[in-house]
Amino acid sequence: MANRVTSNMTSSPIPRVVIVGAGFGGLNAAQALAKSPVHITVVDRANYHTFQPLLYQVATAGLSPGEIAAPIRSILRSDKNVQVLMAEVAGFDLDRRLVKTSEADIPYDYLIVAAGAGHSYFGHDDWEPYAPGLKTIEDALEIRRRVLLAFELAERQASTGETAAQLNFVVVGGGPTGVELAGTLAEISHHALTHEFRSIDPARTHILLIEGGPRVLPAYAEDLSRSAQEQLNRLGVEVRTSAIVTQIEPGAVYTGDTRLPATVILWAAGVAASPLGKNLGTPIDRAGRVLVEPDLSLPGHAEVFVIGDLAALKDEKGKMLPGVAPVAIQQGRFVAKLIRHELESNNKAAVAPPFSRPSREEPALSERSEPKGGDFDSHSRPTFHYWDKGSLATIGRAAAVAEFGRIHISGFIAWLSWLFVHILFLIGFRNRLLVFIQWAWSYVTYERGARLITGSTYLPGWTADQHPDPAQPDAVHPL
Ligand SMILES: Cc1cc2nc3c(=O)[nH]c(=O)nc-3n(C[C@H](O)[C@H](O)[C@H](O)COP(=O)(O)OP(=O)(O)OC[C@H]3O[C@@H](n4cnc5c(N)ncnc54)[C@H](O)[C@@H]3O)c2cc1C
Repeated sequence: MANRVTSNMTSSPIPRVVIVGAGFGGLNAAQALAKSPVHITVVDRANYHTFQPLLYQVATAGLSPGEIAAPIRSILRSDKNVQVLMAEVAGFDLDRRLVKTSEADIPYDYLIVAAGAGHSYFGHDDWEPYAPGLKTIEDALEIRRRVLLAFELAERQASTGETAAQLNFVVVGGGPTGVELAGTLAEISHHALTHEFRSIDPARTHILLIEGGPRVLPAYAEDLSRSAQEQLNRLGVEVRTSAIVTQIEPGAVYTGDTRLPATVILWAAGVAASPLGKNLGTPIDRAGRVLVEPDLSLPGHAEVFVIGDLAALKDEKGKMLPGVAPVAIQQGRFVAKLIRHELESNNKAAVAPPFSRPSREEPALSERSEPKGGDFDSHSRPTFHYWDKGSLATIGRAAAVAEFGRIHISGFIAWLSWLFVHILFLIGFRNRLLVFIQWAWSYVTYERGARLITGSTYLPGWTADQHPDPAQPDAVHPL
């Protein structure tokens, strides 16, 4: 038996729903709620939604940022009850039902927090400047800059008659992001750039993927991990498993006492939930994810939901739901539906909108601490169930793995499925068309059209002997 709380709504005649974050979770919640009689405010620090599964394509110069991101405002333009605010959310006042931004406090009746996740360097944040991770468009552009700059610096050095420096690209972390980055870096080095340099041979670039566990893609079945490693090897990637990175410094990665020279280091090893999770003041797990109730609400606050990468929830078998887009999307839609139903049933009952929560083995909410301003009755809320349609991981050109229950696919067919799914889910018809054309073109020609180096010309670790001024090994390298 579940219970329901009848809450104090804001004084607004129309219930206010505030959504923090316009990623997969937040955006889907907003779209699913948009036809309901509520006022929705979507708050995001960026003015665009990023299609993160294709970030590695921006990082490796296959696509431009505009092809994988779209303005939030334009995505939601036809939803007249949705207001988009570009603002950094700093915290919450759950008692007074306010979202705190640097500019203003935003009142809500329902709050959906979908602020996603960032990188974790496992207590070594000092590694970040030498080993950027891939989470945002800015990260992708920084990785692209470093990768392309490495080739330019090596070419410049070799053009003066010096021996060309060996280019070593090291990717730390053999999950889906590390695997796709390593595979695509191999593709660029060994194919896309081979005819464009005169003094260096980009095909000599050494790509190393380091994984701390015994196999790459640990979340996939063992046969697919094996296949992924074989496909990586075929693309020219060296894979080292059971190798724990112990130190990162400019130009080098250490596994134990072994120093591995690294021209470019990329971090794909750890994920940490948004710090906003901690601000909600309820228990979080080791990755900073909020331990939510089965209806995705915050313990003690039935009017607050946490979804997507920021939420920690186990499935029926006790397995933690993965931090993937379909989970965030389904959770966003689930919460939207739940809110809509509650408001509708509330309208029918012509009482103040009730908030309810599902049953759990622990004491009913009404028996525990009562949230501020709440009264309780005994309606029930549904429980979130994730519909797992399968997992796909791309590795590189015509290389991927796919797991649909007991059906395991590798290679070209898996890659085609990956391509199809990702183009289908990309936001905006224009982007879908552009990406499809780009991919078809680069598949035939091996070309990577977005090879622009923008911003600084500093490459951490371009070492003293490669540097024109040995006195300043870390100085900016003017091109
Ligand atoms: C490189 C990469 C590749 C991936 N590939 C895949 C894949 O192939 N398939 C798959 O299913 N999943 C993939 N994922 C995972 C997937 O992208 C995430 O699971 C999904 O984005 C989670 O959605 P979300 O809504 O929880 O968070 P996000 O999509 O991360 O959105 C969070 C939003 O919150 C905003 N935000 C954060 N903090 C604040 C703040 N303080 N104030 C205001 N706004 C804030 C951010 O700007 C962002 O827009 C990938 C992730 C990455 C990083």
